[in-house]
Amino acid sequence: MDIRRLADFAAKVNIAFPTAEEYGGLSGFYDWGIRGSQLKKNVKDVWWRYFVERKDFVVGLDGSIVTHPRVWEASGHVEEFHDPITRCRSCGRTFRADHLIEDLTGKSVEGASLEEINKILSDLRCPACGGELEPATYFNLMFETRVGPYGGITSYLRPETAQLIFADFPRLYIGNRKRIPFAVAQMGKAYRNEISPRNFLFRLREFEQMEIEFFFDPEDDACPFYDDVKDYEVLTLTVEDQENGRDGEVRRVSEVVGDYPGREWMVYWVVESLRFLELVGVDMGRVRIRQQLPDERAHYSMDTWDVEFRFDDLGWKEIEGVAHRSDYDLSRHAKYSGNDKYRIKREDGTEFVPWVIEPSFGVERVILSILYSSYREDEKRVWLSFKPWVAPVQVAVFPLVSKDGLPEKATKIRDLLRRFFRVEYDEKGSIGKRYRRQDEVGTPYAVTVDYQTLEDNTVTVRERDSMAQERVGVDDLVDYLLERMSW
Ligand code: AMP
Repeated sequence: MDIRRLADFAAKVNIAFPTAEEYGGLSGFYDWGIRGSQLKKNVKDVWWRYFVERKDFVVGLDGSIVTHPRVWEASGHVEEFHDPITRCRSCGRTFRADHLIEDLTGKSVEGASLEEINKILSDLRCPACGGELEPATYFNLMFETRVGPYGGITSYLRPETAQLIFADFPRLYIGNRKRIPFAVAQMGKAYRNEISPRNFLFRLREFEQMEIEFFFDPEDDACPFYDDVKDYEVLTLTVEDQENGRDGEVRRVSEVVGDYPGREWMVYWVVESLRFLELVGVDMGRVRIRQQLPDERAHYSMDTWDVEFRFDDLGWKEIEGVAHRSDYDLSRHAKYSGNDKYRIKREDGTEFVPWVIEPSFGVERVILSILYSSYREDEKRVWLSFKPWVAPVQVAVFPLVSKDGLPEKATKIRDLLRRFFRVEYDEKGSIGKRYRRQDEVGTPYAVTVDYQTLEDNTVTVRERDSMAQERVGVDDLVDYLLERMSW
């Protein structure tokens, strides 16, 4: 599967398509059709249930997209949230300099200084016209906006969801009556003025994140759930593997995560992230965790593990990052806000600023890996093998023919099932075509009402992947489906 074909397919079946296509689109922005918006909602719902509703020590936040500009000064984004940009002196095309170097030389320059980048750049030419390239400069990725009349004040669209969790920490901690360790989760839109958005949903300018900030005491950092995660194995690529040009190995996560305060929790969040990805239907045979190299890491991070997915055409790409951020974030907000509410008092009277571990998912990247993992085709059909809990439609209901009382019976069954599932009713076209249409959008079950239904109150239930059909009594139908659709 390559990304262009997937993008065409996704547009065709109403998952996502370039925004305002009639005006030529706008790079890095997509609109979500009925299938895609439902899919996105389902993935977010499963995430929220998995990480917030099922964990007593996690609460949620829905912060504003535009906030006080000082928040972004405190976070370091105003000063540091930038990528190197270069322009061709002949044709005027702009490029993200580090990506251009990667594309032209095959070498990664993540974390390299401007000086190092410019040294390499001076030997390269514009890939479009062969012209000379300007020296790279930094370009801040935050979208600016004006708040209020008569010019107002300058603020920014949030470039990540995380930051208000830090800024609001005093209220979240006290207001939720929590004790450390605890975590706050947030999902929603984020905006980055990426220099070269590309690869369909992979690099966007408007996207969604699902982020958790987990707060703990570095002197009291045992994880009570460690036993449940310590034996989890996955393909791992450590810094050492990378420095020695090795491919990585299947190992326990607990074997590779470094020795620092919060180590057990780091293992916990990495493993829980992997379990979540498996739950929503990401093919674990294409997943690895990779430790970021020291010069790739943000300056505040003690250790960061990226969860990566292997795309057939793009190679290994980051879907999620789990970053160990020490006390950087809350210390910065304590400094910039000028108050001491970011400090916590221990029972023995000593004080500390909580440390943070952050698992951060991009919703669209999760969806892209689900699409890659679930796309199937054979001579007869194309289908998406979605997990029932993320499938946009869970049950399709068809009358075999649209006469003789079958539609009436089928709509009754539809209404019954709608109390429990996402249901679509369809009576147009041959039954074979109706099955294909549902297969294409990943509907796991189709219920067909036929003449026998009128006699014995049974229906056929067809399962999408095997296409196997089973006769089920209408009275047992809800239980039959519930059993197969709960996680
Ligand atoms: P970061 O804050 O850069 O570590 O990003 C956290 C997560 O957000 C990443 O793992 C991605 O899944 C997602 N993400 C970041 N930038 C983009 C983007 N431009 N488009 C889509 N997803 C993104």
